[in-house]
Amino acid sequence: MTQRALIVGLGIGGMSAAIALKRQGWTPVVIERAPERRKGGYFIGLRDEGKNAAATLGVLDSMEKRTPKHIQFWDVRKDGTRRRIADLTQETNAPIAVLRGDIEDALWHGVEGKVEVRFGTTPVAIVNGATQAQVTLRGEGGQDTTETFDLVIGADGVRSTVRKLVFGPDKVFFHSIGTMLCAFPLARPVEGFKAGDGLMIADVKRTLTVFPLEGRPSTALFSYRTKHPERASKKDPLSVLRHIFADLDAGGIISKALEDLSATDDFLFDSVQMVKMPRWSKGRVLLLGDSAWCLTLYSGMGASAGMIGGQALGEALTAHPHDMDAALKKFEARMRPFVRKHQRFIALRSQLFVPSNRISLWGRRVLWQILLRSRNYLFRKNS
Ligand SMILES: Cc1cc2nc3c(=O)[nH]c(=O)nc-3n(C[C@H](O)[C@H](O)[C@H](O)COP(=O)(O)OP(=O)(O)OC[C@H]3O[C@@H](n4cnc5c(N)ncnc54)[C@H](O)[C@@H]3O)c2cc1C
Repeated sequence: MTQRALIVGLGIGGMSAAIALKRQGWTPVVIERAPERRKGGYFIGLRDEGKNAAATLGVLDSMEKRTPKHIQFWDVRKDGTRRRIADLTQETNAPIAVLRGDIEDALWHGVEGKVEVRFGTTPVAIVNGATQAQVTLRGEGGQDTTETFDLVIGADGVRSTVRKLVFGPDKVFFHSIGTMLCAFPLARPVEGFKAGDGLMIADVKRTLTVFPLEGRPSTALFSYRTKHPERASKKDPLSVLRHIFADLDAGGIISKALEDLSATDDFLFDSVQMVKMPRWSKGRVLLLGDSAWCLTLYSGMGASAGMIGGQALGEALTAHPHDMDAALKKFEARMRPFVRKHQRFIALRSQLFVPSNRISLWGRRVLWQILLRSRNYLFRKNS
């Protein structure tokens, strides 16, 4: 008889796991709290690690790629003046630009019609046995049913319900970076900038970054530092951002972006939390993706880690088809070094997004300039 896995969450981690398990002859069932599949989302830079994982999962070719053909990035000052800086194509291991929804759309092609997906469903209780787990599921009408699975995979994001039910409360595993983010698609081009132009408006403890995308409006990322991120995440994003960015409007860019925020439901406003756990599995329950190790946006590796995690789980279950403990240990051994490497520098990398003081703001500007000049120098030398 084939083994059944319950996957909680139809995000990048959950769908990657579903594709990999299906390939290994398992019967995955995915449950998703939302009533339907989400679309759109924010800018993601996908580096080689993520591209390779997407290729192994068979979804890279069908993924929409949105790196602008003529990309330029600008550092825009308070008074509206601007200076060219390096863009993402000038980084080492240069990422391709996609939306989170592009990765999910591509993964969905590997899931749709092949794996059972139940929307509007969430776990409310898990009894974690020695060889199976019993899960009480609450469906759309509010009715509860109990089912048994050989493995439960919590791929339900940074505020994971599976983690709370089986491993403990958020506060045990959260490591706050002390920053807030608000990400959303802009409704219109930024006035005075060309298609393909990205920009940063940076000041101490607050920034707006606009990421350009080919063939569709850019996405905006507001970030700011606060001593009480969890408290802040319960507030209304629009009024908080209006207040914090009031004197940094840089020629109206901020206020226009906030007008676009007021007109969309497709936004994410949350505190930035790293998740650190000593083990990602207990009995027959495993965490994968942001629920297990949230690398935050500052690592630039969260989406990649979700896909690598799904693939690593499939490989571990193939290597140990009749020994779950050994398979979960193999998964842990494969993922732990990758996660450790990318978690190590998150606080430092956060300075590139939201400088915490004047020195950091200055250092960041110098760094972008050096990157731009070294690229221009190499370009001239080779042409
Ligand atoms: C602004 C921003 C920029 C980023 N930029 C990058 C980047 O450049 N490069 C990169 O690699 N990564 C980036 N990331 C990180 C990346 O987006 C995440 O790491 C990745 O999307 C996490 O996927 P996931 O499937 O683990 O979790 P999620 O995307 O959170 O998906 C979890 C899913 O589970 C569902 N769910 C939640 N609770 C329940 C429940 N109780 N029952 C059922 N379903 C549930 C949710 O509805 C959701 O569909 C960025 C993140 C942000 C916020």
